[in-house]
Amino acid sequence: MKILVTGGSGYIGSVTLARLLQAGHRVHVFDNLERGHREALPPGIPLTVGDLRDAAAIADTMAAVRPDAVMHFAAYALVGESMRQPELYFVNNVTGGINLLEAMRAAGVKQIVFSSSCATYGEPGSADIDESTLQSPTNPYGESKLIFEKMLRWYSGIHGFRTIALRYFNACGATETLGEDHADETHLIPLVLRVALGQSPHVKIFGDDYDTPDGTCIRDYVHVVDLAEAHLQALERGVTGAMNLGTGRGFSVKEVVEACRRVTGHPIPAIISPRRPGDPGRLVARAALAGEKLGWQPRFTEIDEIVATAWRWHQAHPHGYA
Ligand code: UDP
Repeated sequence: MKILVTGGSGYIGSVTLARLLQAGHRVHVFDNLERGHREALPPGIPLTVGDLRDAAAIADTMAAVRPDAVMHFAAYALVGESMRQPELYFVNNVTGGINLLEAMRAAGVKQIVFSSSCATYGEPGSADIDESTLQSPTNPYGESKLIFEKMLRWYSGIHGFRTIALRYFNACGATETLGEDHADETHLIPLVLRVALGQSPHVKIFGDDYDTPDGTCIRDYVHVVDLAEAHLQALERGVTGAMNLGTGRGFSVKEVVEACRRVTGHPIPAIISPRRPGDPGRLVARAALAGEKLGWQPRFTEIDEIVATAWRWHQAHPHGYA
């Protein structure tokens, strides 16, 4: 198939792009390179440097490329930033999303695989989250993803689109060549590994008074390679609807820090700090649906193994792609 990939230079987009190419698909990347990295794209890959907020740019690209399907990764994805500047999230993720869907409709492109998020669920409590859990986001980032999911449902019902929203839990890990490099890094594993690299003195643990066994937040860490595999399967099988992508296992912040100590051999000092506003205590997926519909099973379920892949990448790229 020929796939138009928005946000192909980003963390999850670039790993999925590599998997698509490996599987023999043709790709065209549409990316503004604002938060992604040109270095994460294979040399010679067809690329339009453009912004989804520019309706004409995406419409022209869609008409020229005429892909069989779209994979849509391009979006802002920082919860904290969205709480300070919600407008960025609604303009980029929602308006940009409408421009993308309208470009598809005009060009007769009807299949889309969308990067959604467990942030669409908000704070559902202590039970594992399945796809029927109420979606009630607690920040504009999650809201922007949920709005796009809702648009997908209407475009599929009314315009006959084939749409799938993949709701990632905590994406992490790396391949040999592609990894996580955010200018404004907020994610736990890269921040802990920075300590092991000697780039920061300690990691902060945001709250140890949650209602969890060790008091720190529990998350479902899902490897980026497994996410890429799920995209490929969703695309090739033309599966529709929405599904969680997680391992079904939860690890606390303290457990992740311990894993990083084991993998790196570094003592990694940790300082208990105040809670980060908006952090739910526990977010763990029930991911049976992806197994049923895609035949998807995450290969990386052990936290040490996940951290080890990230550690290899960060050691080889101590300053990211720069
Ligand atoms: N976290 C932490 N210290 C950090 C960064 C994150 O204690 O420096 C915690 C955060 O409060 C959350 C978990 O680690 O409970 C995962 O955070 P991350 O930002 O990686 O992903 P999120 O779950 O917010 O999408």
